[in-house]
Amino acid sequence: MSFPQQLIDGYRAFLVSRLRHEQDRYRALSESGQSPQIMVIGCCDSRVSPEVVFDARPGELFVARNIANLVPPYTPDGAQRAVSAALEFAVQALKVKHIVVLGHAQCGGIRAFAEESAPLSPGDFIGHWMALIAPAAKAVGPRGERPLEQYLAELEQTSVVKTLDNLMTFPCVRILVERGKLALHAAYFGVATGQLSVWDSATGRFSAVAAEEHARMFGSPRF
Ligand SMILES: [Zn+2]
Repeated sequence: MSFPQQLIDGYRAFLVSRLRHEQDRYRALSESGQSPQIMVIGCCDSRVSPEVVFDARPGELFVARNIANLVPPYTPDGAQRAVSAALEFAVQALKVKHIVVLGHAQCGGIRAFAEESAPLSPGDFIGHWMALIAPAAKAVGPRGERPLEQYLAELEQTSVVKTLDNLMTFPCVRILVERGKLALHAAYFGVATGQLSVWDSATGRFSAVAAEEHARMFGSPRF
């Protein structure tokens, strides 16, 4: 099977647009190395690319993506742990100043967990992985009379906040946070609206970023 034509076409577009404008930057970054100030932990979801949402240039974001933007608690058990390795590199080698956990609406992993539906099944990697959602599900409580979409949004948002707790179980993170050298943030992207919200620990709520610009350009969300 040949290399996907879509990617070849995309690369051609990259050559004549982005690379033409960013070539000097790529060259400089190849010589100096990367020194991003921000790590983003995002979902694998193809609709929620952190570099696109934050309009990031090369070298600006250190991104780790996994199903449902989760971070397992600190477990130094010798297993090969991709998230832990990325986190350790970001914090200890790159010395990022911020870690942003970026959740999103209509997350398939969260929905599968909530509905105990496919692609979850005993023995699969994803079922075991999504068990990390359990503390958030407990905090949100049973769905009860809540509409499914509302319940899922609450679960998605609570999971992002709970993931900050898991980040704090890593000694290298906790020490730097306590020294004021590293900040943790929870964010949430509405796929349908394109609205970004950020967790405010003072109010215990997510609040919209650039809400006025968003409303001016796209109108108010219908719900
Ligand atoms: Zn997702």
